[in-house]
Amino acid sequence: MAAKIIDGKQIAADIREELKAKVEQLKSKGITPGLGVILVGADPASISYVTAKEKACHDIGMFSDDNRLCAETSEKELLALVDKMNKDSKIHGILVQLPLPKHIDEQKILLAIDPAKDVDGFHPVSVGKMCVGQKAFLPCTPHGVVQLLVRSGVKLDGAEVVIVGRSNIVGKPLANMLIQKSPTGNATVTVCHTRTKDIAYHTKRADIIIAAAGRPKTITADMIKPGAVVIDVGVNRIEDSTKKSGFRLVGDVDFEPVSQVASLITPVPGGVGPMTITMLLYNTVESASQK
Ligand code: NAP
Repeated sequence: MAAKIIDGKQIAADIREELKAKVEQLKSKGITPGLGVILVGADPASISYVTAKEKACHDIGMFSDDNRLCAETSEKELLALVDKMNKDSKIHGILVQLPLPKHIDEQKILLAIDPAKDVDGFHPVSVGKMCVGQKAFLPCTPHGVVQLLVRSGVKLDGAEVVIVGRSNIVGKPLANMLIQKSPTGNATVTVCHTRTKDIAYHTKRADIIIAAAGRPKTITADMIKPGAVVIDVGVNRIEDSTKKSGFRLVGDVDFEPVSQVASLITPVPGGVGPMTITMLLYNTVESASQK
């Protein structure tokens, strides 16, 4: 039986509607949630991400302070802009689009963001709070994955979850969220990576598999147990001469065969992707609500 598709676009649209209502409420109290956006350089992928984030802000009635800086911007100038945004009461969240040009120390910039405005959830203070179960801004992609699972009615309590990938922005925070003693946690989590001896040994016993390796076909049909829930975080470009662009996007999961074995599965695109920006909006509205 083919798996049911988890429609990330629809779930993201539902959350954005909820946020739109919250923004209206805040506006009636004189607060317009504001996101400070900083892009350094002209990397085409970063431009399209930032443009999508700005548009998403406006679509739900938020305001965005858009700053496009040239690639030659110095670290000092960037730090000064972050500092200005930290002090600006109209800005509730700060987003510095990564990657930054090589002459700028990314960690130094992320550390300079006031944790109270760290809506990307990458500041060590946010990460630390998340680990010990305190209220914190959760990083957007893993938070989006948890929301996809919860809103699709997937039982996390006691579930065996296997995550493939241990990056600081996806695998590690996701593992942390899912082991929290909370209604959106309580799972038993295994994290696999390139030094894992036998990934299939782990994935075969998983109720939920989350692929975040950045490699097509990391998860194949023979690696999953019948009825498993499969979440595909991966976004990979592969050559496709039938497309005008010459490429198409695929995830880390061998979608067609895996969907014959799984019970629920996310597509790429249209699965985790739309949730990432949505959770950025969520964090910014939360930050404004705390004012
Ligand atoms: P990353 O920093 O490159 O980390 C990849 C992780 O996967 C690493 O921990 C690596 O292990 C592991 N890995 C790679 N190949 C593997 C393999 N063959 N078997 C087992 N583990 C393997 O990537 P990332 O930033 O976490 O992103 C992962 C994927 O998600 C990428 O495709 C990215 O584009 C996508 N992504 C999507 C969104 C979205 O909004 N949809 C957001 C963020 C990321 P080691 O640590 O041992 O090297």
